Amino acid sequence: MKIFRANKDNIKLAANLINNGGIVAFPTETVYGLGALASNKNAVKRIYRVKGRPENNPLIVHIYKIEQALSIAKIIPSDAIKLIKKYWPGPLTIITAYNSSSNISSVARANLNTVAIRIPNNPIALKLLRLVDAPIIAPSANISQHLSPTSADHVKNDLFNKLDHKKDMILDGGTTKIGLESTVIDFTKKNPTILRPGGLSIKLINEFVKASFDTTKINNHNPLSPGLFKKHYSPKAILRLDADYPIEGEAWLGFGKNPRSINNFININLSKEGNLEEAAKNLFSMLRYLDKLQVRKIAVKKIPNKDIGIAINDRLYRGAANSS
Ligand code: AMP
Ligand code: MG
Repeated sequence: MKIFRANKDNIKLAANLINNGGIVAFPTETVYGLGALASNKNAVKRIYRVKGRPENNPLIVHIYKIEQALSIAKIIPSDAIKLIKKYWPGPLTIITAYNSSSNISSVARANLNTVAIRIPNNPIALKLLRLVDAPIIAPSANISQHLSPTSADHVKNDLFNKLDHKKDMILDGGTTKIGLESTVIDFTKKNPTILRPGGLSIKLINEFVKASFDTTKINNHNPLSPGLFKKHYSPKAILRLDADYPIEGEAWLGFGKNPRSINNFININLSKEGNLEEAAKNLFSMLRYLDKLQVRKIAVKKIPNKDIGIAINDRLYRGAANSS
């Protein structure tokens, strides 16, 4: 499939395809999304099929202005309002009660009476959303449980054979700025709860709203979010986390200063300066790179568990989990 450069004409073409039931992969500031009209049940169903995503894992509704959220949500609590005024457009997804007179397909919501909403902060995504002028669901444009895509090439590698070459397209807007998914906060209970750490750090959220985050609940049997399984974001290689040095047969994924004699091993560094944002941006693409080299095992240096490092560690933890 041809990848289309995200210029004005091609974004228009993409909007037309979406309005006709097509699927368009497009860049957001977090990762590439796989977009379809949120009201179009068949297109939404096809998204689940293309990704191989279980239909009990609901999708995030993407919009371009807060007014749209006001009609999709039954009610937006004041804490959520505070956050979206500050951080939208941005890597923040809110879960609210769903307004049943809105037209988001129940398939997109996995039949829940709640809905996930966000405004992405990427000019291409916003232009597309404005042209379509209706909510678009956009899960990450990768095969379910695998690494999320941070470039159009990643999307092509995963989905080339699964998309319809007449109805669908991939828009190339370069590599994504943040490289990790949005932070998901549930506002449907008494206290806001962080379901998925992500591009907006918990520290910044807590400057405005007290939101709880319980890492101990992250396991297969008690997922915080439907579909938020323990195994996710997985490379083909086996990950060994919090490593100091690779052992025979392992590749090295570093952070900060490299250990001595590392060049005896296949190695790559998330951020030599020890910059967590740089590491977040590089994480998925470097894991994809190591998969391409067909390494079997990867030793990963310990990542500081603060700021966006919390989201990096969440992805690494799930990437290292096995499916049992
Ligand atoms: P993705 O589309 O891959 O970025 O994943 C979206 C995340 O949002 C998944 O972890 C979903 O389980 C979560 N999500 C979407 N809708 C809801 C909802 N109504 N309630 C709780 N979590 C949700
Ligand atoms: Mg995903």
